[in-house]
Order: sequence, then structure tokens, then C-alpha cells
Amino acid sequence: MRDMRGLRESDAYKSTLEHFKNIDPCQHNVFKNLHIERTDSRCPICECLIDGSLFRQNNKNKITAISATIDHFRPIEHYPNFKCEDKNYLLLCSDCNNVLKKSLFPLYGSRTRATTISDISIEKPLLVNPIDDNIEELFTLLFIFRPDGSRILEVAIHPALVEGSYFYEKAKTSIEIFKLGECYTTDTKDNVQVCRIDILRKHFEDLYKIALAFRNHSSELRVLLQEYKKTENKHGFMKFIKNNNFKIIIPQG
Ligand SMILES: [Zn+2]
Repeated sequence: MRDMRGLRESDAYKSTLEHFKNIDPCQHNVFKNLHIERTDSRCPICECLIDGSLFRQNNKNKITAISATIDHFRPIEHYPNFKCEDKNYLLLCSDCNNVLKKSLFPLYGSRTRATTISDISIEKPLLVNPIDDNIEELFTLLFIFRPDGSRILEVAIHPALVEGSYFYEKAKTSIEIFKLGECYTTDTKDNVQVCRIDILRKHFEDLYKIALAFRNHSSELRVLLQEYKKTENKHGFMKFIKNNNFKIIIPQG
């Protein structure tokens, strides 16, 4: 998951916003590249690569590329007034956007939806927005060794959150909707609807060694970090690791 806070304060964003308002009104695709640069070509939620290099097979055995989509965070089906509101745009991979989130937008407490942009401060969305939310207050990472021998990196509710509180429910709902935690399957076929097992396995393999070296203050850490910097493979999850916001789960017995 990628911390995208500060995106709207950049100069590039401000000039794109000018263009969006005055020259090409309501073409939300003009923001797409800015979001992609911010996430190093990853989905800000599940962190799969969105540069066209990843494919998946659906239950009809059809192979499709996972692509970058920029869409309305608050779906226009429920928020027609927010169609041309730049603060309502968010980059997601095609799986997170079209297969999982779709037009879902659950709220905590009151079911009354905002009708103007100034109303959104009183709304409590149950979906995380990495541009507006501090993702490390909501989530932690779990490096899990499963009894069947497989290894995955899951996203979990931050342990400091109190059950039933707004942030707790927001983290829980986001994990449920984007299928990033509590995975009980090892089936990699059309698993998106159940759990993102293929992505979560890849994240484990990419990041476990470096997380362990951080945890153990290992002498290997410097070399691992140098190797990591050389790759184009930048993860938002690295911030969680550097902040020691993760747990390693090993089965008992
Ligand atoms: Zn995604």
C-alpha cells in the first residue's frame, strides 16, 4: 500500500489542475500519470505492478493484463456531483477498481451521503484513500508462514485500533473489499474474488528478507537495501518495514 499524501500539493499537480479546469474540463485521465509517478507504477492499494507486465487468468480461462485505471473514489452512481471533482480521483489497478471496489462506498455511522465537496469532511468512508489517509495508522503487515508451507504477506488491522471504532472498521472493510488479508485459500486460479494470493505471495518473496534484516539489525541490511535501490521495484510497503510496522507469524508446533 502506498502513502500518496501530498500529491495534490505538488507543482505538477497544480498545473494539471489548471489544465483540467480551464482547457480540458472533467477529463480525469489527465491526472493518471501524476498518480502513476507517485506510486512507481504500482496500484496504491494492492501494490501489484500496473505497467502492463502482469496478467491473470479468470474463471473462464481468459488471460487479461492488469492495467492502471483512474476513477472516482466516491462512485458517481452515489455522488453525481463529484464527477468533475479532482479530489475524487484515485488510481487503482483494474482488479481493485473493476473487480472488487466497483461502485461500493460504505460509510461508518450515518448513511447520509455528501452532496458537495465541503460536506465530505463530515462523512466517514469505510474505504481507505491513500491520498487522504495515513495508511500506517490503519494497517500493519503480517509476514505469514502458513502450515501448508506457503508464505504470504497480508495486510491487517493496526493493533492499536479499538474494535468498533471508526478507524478499526475502516481498516477492516478496506481489507475485506480489496481481499488483502485473512486469506484461507491457496488456490491461485481466479483467486481475486476470494483473496489476492498470487500478489500476496510475491510481496512476501520481494520483502521478507529485507524485513527480517531490519528486525534483526542484521549486517546484511546495508547490502540488501543497496540491491533494493538498484531495482525499479519500489514498494510502498517498504515504509511499513522501515517503521517496524510488521509482524512475522510462524505456525506453532
Ligand atoms: Zn490493486
